[in-house]
Formats: sequence, structure tokens, C-alpha cells
Amino acid sequence: MDIHEHQAKDILAKFGVPVPRGYLAYSPEQAAYAARQLGGAACVVKAQIHSGGRGEAGGVRLCRSEGEVRDYAGDLLGRTLVTKQTGAAGKPVHRLWIEEATDIRQEIYLGFVLDRKSERIMIVASGHGGMEIEDLAETDPESLVRMVVDPAAGLVEFQARELAFKLGLKGPQVGQMVTTLRACYRAYRDLDAMMVEINPLAITGTGDLVALDAKMSFDTNALFRRDQVAALRDPGQEDPREAMAADNGLAYVGLDGDIGCIINGAGLAMATMDMIKLAGGEPANFLDIGGGASPDRVVTAFRTVLADPNVSVILVNIFAGINRCDWIARGVVQAYQEVGLSIPVIVRLSGTNVEEGRAIIRKSGLPLLSADTLAEAAEAAVASRPHPVAA
Ligand code: GDP
Ligand code: MN
Repeated sequence: MDIHEHQAKDILAKFGVPVPRGYLAYSPEQAAYAARQLGGAACVVKAQIHSGGRGEAGGVRLCRSEGEVRDYAGDLLGRTLVTKQTGAAGKPVHRLWIEEATDIRQEIYLGFVLDRKSERIMIVASGHGGMEIEDLAETDPESLVRMVVDPAAGLVEFQARELAFKLGLKGPQVGQMVTTLRACYRAYRDLDAMMVEINPLAITGTGDLVALDAKMSFDTNALFRRDQVAALRDPGQEDPREAMAADNGLAYVGLDGDIGCIINGAGLAMATMDMIKLAGGEPANFLDIGGGASPDRVVTAFRTVLADPNVSVILVNIFAGINRCDWIARGVVQAYQEVGLSIPVIVRLSGTNVEEGRAIIRKSGLPLLSADTLAEAAEAAVASRPHPVAA
């Protein structure tokens, strides 16, 4: 789960990372008021969206007057920002972070990630920050410093100091870097984060370190024990289809095609998507309904798939082990009655209680297409699209 920059800064500041003063604004008036509160000759207006690359996309601007802040805020709020990371759909701007301007002398990159190989938290840093880590790795790989932290000892001072020296920091900057690194490490560990990134960590005109940007993302499997982190979720930044699925406990990933899929098991879901592609179609989603799915759960899966306006046909493919084909079939019939389906539905059932399931489908009198094999089901789905895409 991602959070906003201002939330990440708030968290990291509590752990001891130096951040600029700033205020949140939901309207141009609040933005102007925030600028007045900050005082000073200039401030930075920053769109809060769950994405980096805002600077290049016009989502970050240095403003020199209250009027400029108000105008720019009015221009940004309600807009959708498309960055390198958002995909074509972009992310909506509903809040702004207004921050005191910083005199930047140098930009440092600082990232904390989970290194799956060593099963430890790894720090990645570079003295040439500002650009994205992917670009850094390509254009300036020698500048990257990597360090793995031993979980038993935590990030100890000498190790943090060594990293500071490798980045060429001097004098009081070393102590500030040690504080910053250890604060990030503790925030990462104590809050079950998956990623902490400060880019840029600026060296200011007075030689001090300050985090100008902050990004954190969290392990969704640990949110049950991190109420305060879970509360930071902003569904407005999520794909509405995926947000709805997550609220209903369904494993769902939205895709670009028009064939909606309701399947049990991630492996079968992947195989079904492959078969759809082989038959010349494009899946609209990945959806794993899980085991022991009740008829109600099937209806919820239908609602989730149908929330995507691109869906023009639905393929239900169940290989029932823990699941029961009769429950699935009842769910499909129920979905017809409750949701009022007007698009073709192909059902392929096999496994536990398959005869009962097929009987329910047959006797329902509904225009459901039955298929025996996965290949047949995929072909039927592709063939029954109302507006087949020309190959
Ligand atoms: P991102 O593009 O989404 O990663 O957003 P950032 O918060 O990193 O901002 C983009 C760029 O704007 C940074 O790399 C900085 O160069 C610049 N920037 C951000 N805050 C300030 C500031 O307070 N003063 C100045 N002069 N530049 C800033
Ligand atoms: Mn940044």
C-alpha cells in the first residue's frame, strides 16, 4: 500500500528525519493561506498523488507570491496528472502539500528496500540524486552505494557513518546522515514498510541535510497490526476496480481487455488468461475467487468484474477442489437475478459436485453458455464478444 508524500514526511519526521515545514491544502484558498503561514520569499507547491516523476509532469512548482500559489493550486486541483509511473490513466490531484522552499546545493538519493536474496533490508544511496533510481542505475551505476543491514544488530552507527563517508559527506553532515539513515531504518522496520525512498535528500546552502521528497509503501499483509498506517490509505489514488475488489477480499488485477474473468486459483487464472490470448482475445482482469466460494461471493465477483465498463463478456472458469460447482452455479444464477446481466456469460465447471452445478446452469433457463474444456471456454468467450476487435 502506498501513501502520500506528506504522510511519509510526517512519519519519517517523527522518527527523526529532517523535513521542511509545510501544510496540506485542499483548495486554492488553503494553499494561499499555507504560503502566508510559511512566510519567506518562496514556497513549493506539490501535487499529492501516489507516484513519483511529478516534477517532470508539472506537479511540483516553486512559487514566489501568494497569488502565484493560488493560481497554480487552482490549476492543479481536480486535474489528473500523468507521470512516467502512473500509466496513461494518471492519478487525480485532490490535495496539495505547500512547503517552504529550500536552497539546494546537492541532491542525494536514498532508498530502503527489501533485498529478497539476503532476506534483509538493503540501503541504496547515490550522491547524484534527483533522478529516478532506474535512470541512475542506467546512467550512473558507479555512483550507487549498497549496504545490507543485519536485522539482529539493526543499522549501527559505524555502518551508517561509513555510508555517509562513501557519499562524500563532511563535518556535521555525517552526523545528520547517521540520524537520517537510522530513522528511516527504524521507520521501515517498526511499521512493516516495503520501501522507503528519499529523493532528493538535499544538502542545503547552509550545508544541512533535509528530505525534500519522501515515499513509503507498506506490506498489505501486515496492515492488520498497523492500524495507524492502514488509516492512511487513500482509495482515491487506487484503480477503482482494484479498490472495490480489495474491499471485498478478492484477488483482482485490472487489465486492458474486454473479457472479464472469474476463476479460482492464481495458477488457473494465469492459464485462462493465456488461453484467452491464444484464442485471440484480451482479458479485462485477473480475478481469483479463492477456495470455498459461496454463491454471494460469486455475485460479488460479478459486480467487481462488471464495474469495469470495458467488459463485454464474462468467462467463469472453476476447477473445484475445496470449491463446489453447485455453489458457483447458484452464484452465477443469483448474479443474473441481482445484477441483471445483459452480456454473454460462459461457464466452465469441473471438479467437486460438477453434475449438480451443470444441472443448475441447465435448468436456470438463462442464456448461459456452457463449455467443457478450458480451450472451448476461451474460444467461446472470444467468439461471443459483441464487437470483436479486428485482428
Ligand atoms: P517527484 O518528481 O515526484 O519525485 O517530486 P520531488 O518532490 O522529488 O520534486 C521534484 C524536484 O523538484 C526535486 O528533485 C527538486 O529538484 C525540486 N524541488 C522539490 N522541492 C524543492 C524545494 O523546496 N526547492 C527547490 N528549489 N526545488 C525543489
Ligand atoms: Mn522525488
